[in-house]
Parts: sequence; structure tokens; C-alpha cells
Amino acid sequence: MLSSTRISICQVRELYKKTRIDTLYSIPHKLLVMGKKIVLGIETSCDETAIGIVDSSGHILANCLYSQIQEHREFGGVVPELAARAHLARLERLLEQSFKKAAITWSNIDAISVTGGPGLIGGIIVGVMAAKAMAAYQNKPFYAINHLEGHALSPRLTQDISFPYLLLLVSGGHTQFLVVHDVGCYTCLGSTLDDAIGEAFDKTAKLMGLPYPGGPLIEQLALNGNPLAYTLPKPLIKQKNCTFSLSGLKTAVRQCLEKNNISKESLEAADLCASFQYTVTELIKNRLFYALEAAHSNLGKPVENFVVAGGVSANKYIRSSLKDFCQSKGLHFYAPDLKLCTDNGAMIAWAGVERIRAGLHPDTLSFPPRPRWPLDALKLEIHND
Ligand code: AMP
Ligand code: MG
Repeated sequence: MLSSTRISICQVRELYKKTRIDTLYSIPHKLLVMGKKIVLGIETSCDETAIGIVDSSGHILANCLYSQIQEHREFGGVVPELAARAHLARLERLLEQSFKKAAITWSNIDAISVTGGPGLIGGIIVGVMAAKAMAAYQNKPFYAINHLEGHALSPRLTQDISFPYLLLLVSGGHTQFLVVHDVGCYTCLGSTLDDAIGEAFDKTAKLMGLPYPGGPLIEQLALNGNPLAYTLPKPLIKQKNCTFSLSGLKTAVRQCLEKNNISKESLEAADLCASFQYTVTELIKNRLFYALEAAHSNLGKPVENFVVAGGVSANKYIRSSLKDFCQSKGLHFYAPDLKLCTDNGAMIAWAGVERIRAGLHPDTLSFPPRPRWPLDALKLEIHND
């Protein structure tokens, strides 16, 4: 009889559960691709403990975050061991908060995604182990997300942006131009030889006696400063490529502070912040010019869409300067909503949605947390799958 030979998705799951936990999710995945989905995302790769819940139409049902800034501030930067402990201490409460905010239960969740790297390994282990436990216990598909892919796709959560696009990823740990061909498919065109741009903001702020993280404070002080007050170097500007170098800029700030004996409350400090921010922005525009050329030759056609993402993309001066630059070149400019620029759970949940929609398989529960995980390695892994 037909009815007795039909096998339900639950039966398939049970069958798989009885065989190997690694293969648990491979068959249900075919059904997962269809219809509206709700994904829970966990982010613990640095100093934000974050959980987001989003659906596949781009609605953010919850985006709860605990910032560890106070824990790390007295040390002038993130202390990895403290960060891992704080993630562990906060995650459970944050999960309850997220479900309450989203007004849903586990039964509404279709998949769990978690930052699997790159980042501080202690924090990543906490997030990944928690996500694996939830996936196994709640019987949900598990997606290990590359944190950089979370940033790269974050503007697509709230805006309609088609592939391919040129991405400038600017965060506390990364500065890269990438061609985003598709979900899981990236080509790196250039990166930094030393400091990341967010790191340069943070180190400059520290030199000026400002607390961590320095980026938002420099932006705030720069509002009252003259961007042309101090001439700072633009490293590598003569090179016709999209490689960055930021460490010389930070040294120049230190020399300027020593030479002019600038205190953090003075008008000169505001001038220096404005000059630093202006110089970084000019540098980015110069590098972007060459990145567009490199993207053109990579794609075999001119780029139409430019996206800036990552923590530094929250800087309104940089956003508006890049928008003007793009308009002058006839490019569409996109940046994530301000609350999605720095690390958050919604972008990790959204990367899970994107992977489901692209038909990519969930990861197995043997996924190893990765302190290093270059974004352009993803393509290879997917094709080898
Ligand atoms: P992420 O690594 O993506 O979490 O971003 C954190 C980095 O972004 C830190 O280095 C911050 O200093 C930097 N950042 C955050 N907001 C701003 C801002 N408004 N201007 C410049 N940098 C910022
Ligand atoms: Mg980040």
C-alpha cells in the first residue's frame, strides 16, 4: 500500500539519527530550501556576544547583543580569555532574551547558524559548541558561518543588492577588497600589509588617550575639527593597486602628538581626529579607484555595485564620502544599516538564510572552529563538498 511505503521527513531524521550524527542533516536539507525560513544566528568571535533571529524575507525578529566593551576597556583592547568567559556567562540569558523579543519558540526555528571563524579562538569555541549542542538537541540543521561572509552579505538583509559586487570589508581585524560573485564565492583583490583600518582608528585613539574602541570617538571628535589642519602620510598611494598599509599613518599621528603636545580635550585633538579620518578616507578612495579596475578585469565587465561593510562602515563621514565617490563614477553605493555594521547576530543568521536559499548543504557537527579562515577559501570548500 502506498501510504505504508511513504516516509515522512521526521522518519528520515530519526533514521539518520540512528546512523551517524554527521549525516543527520543531508536529506532534510532538500526540503529546507523551500518556503519561508527562520534562522537563529550566534556571534562570539570577538567582544560582542550576540544572537539574532531573522526570516528569509529579511525581517529581523530579534537582534540582541551584549557588548563587552566595559570588560576590556581598562586593558585598552580585547583580552581573549576574558572575552571567552564573558561569552559563556552571557549566551544563555541572551538566548532567552532573543526568543522573548522574537515572540517565537524552538519549534519556529528552521536552522541554527554560528560564527565558525575567523576570530579569537576561545570565543569561537564557546559559540560553536553552544550552537552544536542546540542543533543536536533541537534537531535543527547547523551552519558554520565565516564571520567575514556575515559582514559581506549583511547589506542584503535589508536591501536588494544583486551579485556580483565589489566589497570593501573594513573592520577591527580586516581590510580587504573582494569581488562577491555569489554566496560562498569570493575573490580577494587586495588587503592590508599591516594594520586593519578599524585597528588604525583604535590605535590612534589610544595614542590620544581615548578609550577603546576608538573609531566612534574619533568620528565624534572630528566633527569639530579641521580635516586639513595636519598633513598626514598616505602610505602606498603611488602604487597602482588596491593594497593598504596603515601602520605608518599611526606612527605619524604619534609624532604629531609629541611635536605639538596635544591633549585629548584640546581643539588640536579634534583637528588631529578630523585630519586622520580625512586621510584614511582619501586613502580608501584612492585604493578604490584601483580596486574597480581590478574587479573589472576579474569579472570581464565594469562593476555596477559597490558595498562597504564591517565596523568602520558605521563611520558617517566615510560612508558619505564613498557614496559621493561612487556617484561620480556611476556606481550604486550600498552600506549595511548602522546597527548591522559592527558585529551582531542578525548578520550571522542572515548568512545562514543566504546559504539555505543558495541550496548549500548544512555543516556537520564535526566542523572545527577556525581562528583563521580566509573568505576566498570558501569557494574551494563548497566545490569539494
Ligand atoms: P568589527 O570588527 O566589525 O566589530 O568592528 C569594530 C571596529 O570598527 C573597531 O575597530 C571600531 O573602532 C571600528 N568602528 C566602529 N565604529 C566606527 C566609526 N564610527 N568610525 C570608525 N571606526 C569605527
Ligand atoms: Mg566583525
